[in-house]
Amino acid sequence: MQHYINGAFRDSRGGQTFEVLEPTTNVAYILAAAGGDADIDAAVTAAREAFETGPWPRMKNRERARVLNRIADAVEAQDAALATMESFDTGLPITQARGQARRAAENFRFFADLIVAGTDDAFKVPGMQMNYVNRSPVGVAGLITPWNTPFMLSSWKLAPALAAGCTVVLKPAEFTPLSASLWAGIFTEAGLPPGVFNLVNGIGEEAGDALVKHPGVDLISFTGETITGQTIFANAAPTLKGLSMELGGKSPALVFADADLEAALDSTLFGVFSLNGERCTASSRILVEATVYEDFVAAYAARAENIKVGPPSDPDTEVGALVHPEHYERVMGYVEVGKTEARLVAGGERPEGLEEGNYLAPTVFADVPPEARIFQEEIFGPVVAITPFDTEDEAVALANNVKYGLAAYIWTSDVTRAHTLADRIEAGMIWINSHNVRDLRSPFGGIKASGLGQEGGYRSLNFYSEHKAVHVTLGAVHTARFGATGYDEQDPFFAAKRDEA
Ligand code: NAD
Repeated sequence: MQHYINGAFRDSRGGQTFEVLEPTTNVAYILAAAGGDADIDAAVTAAREAFETGPWPRMKNRERARVLNRIADAVEAQDAALATMESFDTGLPITQARGQARRAAENFRFFADLIVAGTDDAFKVPGMQMNYVNRSPVGVAGLITPWNTPFMLSSWKLAPALAAGCTVVLKPAEFTPLSASLWAGIFTEAGLPPGVFNLVNGIGEEAGDALVKHPGVDLISFTGETITGQTIFANAAPTLKGLSMELGGKSPALVFADADLEAALDSTLFGVFSLNGERCTASSRILVEATVYEDFVAAYAARAENIKVGPPSDPDTEVGALVHPEHYERVMGYVEVGKTEARLVAGGERPEGLEEGNYLAPTVFADVPPEARIFQEEIFGPVVAITPFDTEDEAVALANNVKYGLAAYIWTSDVTRAHTLADRIEAGMIWINSHNVRDLRSPFGGIKASGLGQEGGYRSLNFYSEHKAVHVTLGAVHTARFGATGYDEQDPFFAAKRDEA
């Protein structure tokens, strides 16, 4: 896996590489170029040059939109190939990897439409002033992405950044660099000028760090762990970069006794076990009203035991292999902690017959106290914590009792309660009687330790755009005349004006 800089694939300047492992065996299957300062500098220089002198930032929105639509077509055409690649590299079940290209393509189509149809503010104070906004791309955007659904997640950043007219340097996650290299071919085929898109592979603390600190980068859009976000926040301060941060989560699902419990069961199982539980918006804490708690836990555990864990390439597989042995060790560490903190009702170990690779049986802990680590900390694997509550107030207190605030799910048939809770729960995104389904126009992002700024719809475009406010006086200028008393008479300019009059 090489870098892609200024329209050409390249090795690292110093020739450094790192191994990429296949998650069902943990055998290295490819070497990727490990970028360092010199590679980032080359990529940023190319992006800067393309921004300062190239056609992309200066194109009409309609022209850029045409390229974005061609990108969408090319992405969609890769759906089957991409699904195979993504499933192989990340360990995601193949059925869940399918459709990622369609969603990625949709991101490009959406932002193509938005820049063509978009309007900007103009305000008038009749007879006195007019105000309008001139929008322009910010510059070079550094895009740093995680390893869960890597291709699709990078499209969330690439599409609005390019639509706004920025040029970019993408640094994908080191666990899963495979699919990012597809972008080079797709962009070239669609007619994106050289230097607009640059890709540097590498380790976060090296390539990612160099990108964040580079003075030629204007913006960083980051998705990843909260702790990494905090480091990036500090490292971006000396060069005052704009930051958008999509960080970790520990999202609650509140299940009330009056809910459609079958639907809540399906949704909360899908919410935490799809994508191997490696999902930022996973409903990893389920809070259940006490009157239905034992029945819900029993049904949940039985269904979890019945989930098919297996090779990601098998179309029957529902939970595949976790991405990397380091991550697997971390998740297994939480499972051991959980066994000391709560009641294990399903899973908790490697499934039988899958002796190698990063497999974990869907794991369910019940009676989890709110101070438990498995209640408070993001595990990012197929592990869920279930906790009972008696009253609505208690449910809200439990839901809000973590540092994160990414998503929340409310299951109830009481409309008033649903909307009241949607307001009281501290989360950037709330779903009522639904799992995570999102219209691309709506904001995406977390509050508290789950993020900074929001993406989605015009909010994404705003992040990659400068907004210059232009104020025009209409009619007479009304200015307090400092220093005017006794001055006009002596001033030759005003004297001449008086004589003319
Ligand atoms: P991570 O923070 O370890 O890595 C994310 C990216 O940051 C990688 O490309 C990595 O190489 C890079 N990186 C690491 N250290 C860096 C540094 N010092 N400077 C610059 N870059 C650096 O996250 P991960 O393990 O890849 O992904 C899982 C995390 O991502 C979870 O916490 C999950 O909740 C979060 N996530 C959030 C969202 C969201 O939208 N809120 C979406 C997906 C994933």
